[in-house]
This record gives sequence, C-alpha cells and structure tokens, in this order.
Amino acid sequence: MLRAMLILFLIILYIGCQVNIEESATSKRLNIIFIMSDDHAEQAISCYGSKLIQTPNIDRIANEGIRFNNGFVTNSICAPSRAVLLTGKYSHLNGLRDNRDHFDGSQVTFPKLLQQADYYTSIVGKWHLKTTPTGFDHWNVLVGQGSYYNPVMVQNGDTSRHIGYTTDLITDFAIESLEKRDSTKPFCLLYHHKAPHRNWMPDPKHAKMFDEDLPIPETFYDDYETRSAAAKEQDMRIDDLFLSLDLKLFPGDFETETGTGGSNNFDAVKSWEQTYNNLTPEQKTAWDAHYDPIRNEFKEKKPSGKALSEWKYQRYIKDYLACVKSVDDNIGRLLNYLDENGLAENTLVIYTSDQGFYLGEHGWYDKRFMYEESLSMPLVARLPGKISANQVTDEIVLNLDFAPTILDFADVDIPEEMQGKSLRPLTEGKILKDWRRSMYYHYYEYPHGWHDVKQHYGIRSKRFKLIHFCNDIDAWELYDLKNDPNELNNLINSPSHQTAVVDLKKELEKLKTQFKDF
Ligand code: CA
Repeated sequence: MLRAMLILFLIILYIGCQVNIEESATSKRLNIIFIMSDDHAEQAISCYGSKLIQTPNIDRIANEGIRFNNGFVTNSICAPSRAVLLTGKYSHLNGLRDNRDHFDGSQVTFPKLLQQADYYTSIVGKWHLKTTPTGFDHWNVLVGQGSYYNPVMVQNGDTSRHIGYTTDLITDFAIESLEKRDSTKPFCLLYHHKAPHRNWMPDPKHAKMFDEDLPIPETFYDDYETRSAAAKEQDMRIDDLFLSLDLKLFPGDFETETGTGGSNNFDAVKSWEQTYNNLTPEQKTAWDAHYDPIRNEFKEKKPSGKALSEWKYQRYIKDYLACVKSVDDNIGRLLNYLDENGLAENTLVIYTSDQGFYLGEHGWYDKRFMYEESLSMPLVARLPGKISANQVTDEIVLNLDFAPTILDFADVDIPEEMQGKSLRPLTEGKILKDWRRSMYYHYYEYPHGWHDVKQHYGIRSKRFKLIHFCNDIDAWELYDLKNDPNELNNLINSPSHQTAVVDLKKELEKLKTQFKDF
C-alpha cells in the first residue's frame, strides 16, 4: 500500500514537472534568424525542383517547415529589396527606388521596433544601403557590394579587412554575434550573404563540382518576338558577359573585351585585375589550379558564334552554382550551431533572397524585369512545434510581408504604416479567404544605372500578368501564366483576352491607390 502511494506520488510529481517545463518553454520569447542571400534564384534550389544543384540545407528548412511557391518581390533589385524588408513599405514610400538612392535610417523599421521590445538585434553580412545601419545592437557589414575574398567590413563603426572566403567569414561572424549576445534577451539576427551576386567567384574547393556541362535553358535562344522593345533592348545577355571580370579569362586570352554588360565607361579588365590581385598568394595558387586549364582550353578552341554563347553560359552557370554551394554549406553550419546550442526549438529560421535571377532563361543573367525568374524569390521557414513540417503554400506572398511577419512572431504590434501582411497564419496552415489575389510591382532604375531595363509597373494574379513599360516607351504586355509559364506569348492584342486586360487594369488601379503609388 505504502509502495503504491509512493509510486502515485512520484507520477504526480513527474506530471507537475512536465507542465512546468512546457509552461516555461511557451513563455520564453522567440528568437529570429532571417537569412537572405543575394540573387539566389529558385532555379538553383533543390526543394524548388532545381535541375542544376542539390541544396540539402536550404531544403532542410523547407522540409522541417514551410515552402512558399508564390513568393515575389515588389521591385527586383538589391538595395530597394532590402529597404522593403526593413520598412514593410513599397519603394516609393520608403524612399529607396533604385541602387543609387541612400536609405533614410531615421524611419520606422522592424529591427528598431524589436529593439524597443527588448530584443537583441544584429545584422551580419551584406547591407548595401549606403547609410549607417540603425536599429541594431550589433552590426558587422560589408562595404558596398563587398568582395568574394578578403572582404572589408565595418563592425559597429570600426573598419577592418579579413582574410578568407566571404561566405564562410559571414557565417563565422554571424555565429560569433550569437556567442557574444546578451543572452538575457531574445535575439533577432539578420544573416545576409553577398553570394551568389555577380561576379560569381567560387571557393575553389567547389569549383570542380560541375565537370559535366549543364542543360541549356529552354528559352536560352528567345528572340523576344511578340514582346515590346523593353525585352529586346536590355543589356543583360549572357552573350555580353565580360570575358574578364565575369568569366575569369585574362587579357591575352582573348583579343578584345567585347562585352558591355552594364554602364558606360566601366573598365571590366581593370576591375578584374584588381579583384584577382586582392587574392593572397595561397588563394591565387588554388584559383589558378582550377582556372588555368579553362583558360588554356579557351585559347586552344577559340569558340565563336553559338559555341561561344554556350561556352559563356557554362562558365557563368558553373561559377554561380559553386557560389550557391558555399551558401548552402554555411546555412548547414548555422543550423548545426542552433542544434548544438539548444536554440533550434525556439528560433524561427527564414531563408530567402533579395530577388530571383536569370540563369540563362531568355538568354539573360541579372534581374529587374517583372518576368517570373526575377519577380520570384525563394522563401522557406521553420519553427519546430509552431510551423508544421512539410507544408507548401501557393498563396501570393511578398517581401513586403517580412517586417509584419517577424513582428507578429515576436508579439510586437505591427504599425499601421507597414503595407505587408503577416505570414504567420499561413505558416499555421490557416485558410484565409481574404488573402491577396494579386500583387503590385514597380521597377524604377532607368535610364541611369546598369542593364538598360526600362521602367515598368504591373500586376500579377495567380493566372495572369499585366505589365506597363513606361518612361521613354508606352507598351503593355499580358501573359497567361497557366498556358505560357515561360512568358513567350504577349497576349495584349489577343481579341479573346480583352476582358482580362480590362479587369486587370481596373485591379491595377485599385492596387496603386491602396499602396499610395500615385
Ligand atoms: Ca540582389
């Protein structure tokens, strides 16, 4: 009898302890790690069905949480995307329309609101907003675009150069910021890679991972028939990549630098020489061991015409993917750190890119256009116990939603002026009948800057996309994304689509009003 009572007592004690443990876990405030790479296309992520590469660590976030299939940016270019992330507002309201603008750090941002709510906030890696970061307890950011090797970084105002491969170093510094944080507070870390941004310089340990040639995209030889002048007059063709800076040949390996690839008067050969000379002797030895045979083969074969186009594509895509491989490896390192330090359970992890990118589709590299490859951004998120595993959603979500989402997860009020919506209910598997059915896009960087993509704005619903190219042109394009996912057939003059055009124009005006873009 006594023994039975003792066992019963122990059982009650055990249940009581369990309840206490669970209570303290739910009352513990959530940590947030927001991972953003630069120019990482969905076509180069295996959980998005990539035919080019395996990215097991990014896939792990998706498999243990949720993948968004229809994630889009509101202005597909680096600095503006980052300003949208911080403010939750469109470019015309946050003041950063193109890469020339300076970010106004006095405005309301989600890191500032988290800081006020007693979060420890930090950003490590790419910043690219020209002004000094505000709203962060700790910041350690690349100067400008940053370099792939031996980067110059500014840490809370102090500048230093670090020796090593930047993707690895940014991860070292991100982990260091977690180690040194004020652990009495919940944290929010923005961990932002430079890679795989142009000029795609891999770590030579990954340079050999693509011995075989990769498949040429279906639309590589697109002739832009049916489309406006905008698609024809851009300056972002694979054909125009610099043999020096982009494809890593040296003067002497080719007769002249024929590529344009960007703004006038840019000396690509000189830029490449400077970049190469930034490597240490050891780094140069490893680099040359990989690239010398490539240079020798080029000199011997002297490809031209179609063979040269395809040679350029192979050179480009292999370097791009090798840079992605380092990003994925380093995300694995960070996830392991969370596991090993008991942080995985209570930390929301988000992976995205500042926009998508062309990996040879339509014959292009770069971004900017409202066409699918650059409008899309990868987005996966994990939070054990709160976001169920293996979820996929087709709802339309935007980079405009990041700030409200993060504030919502942190239980901080979302200011009225933020224009996005919290994705939290979608991550909880809720069906929301009033969720957005279309999105609004606006791109500005023309005629200044790189790549000559004309100004445009437009609307994308799940089925259709309507784009108006403007400024020095007045041209509309309509695509049926269901029947023409590659957007090759502009239907703006198709008689059977005129009802859709009228409806979309009406909806577009509504969105412009809603988002105050007058
Ligand atoms: Ca970018």
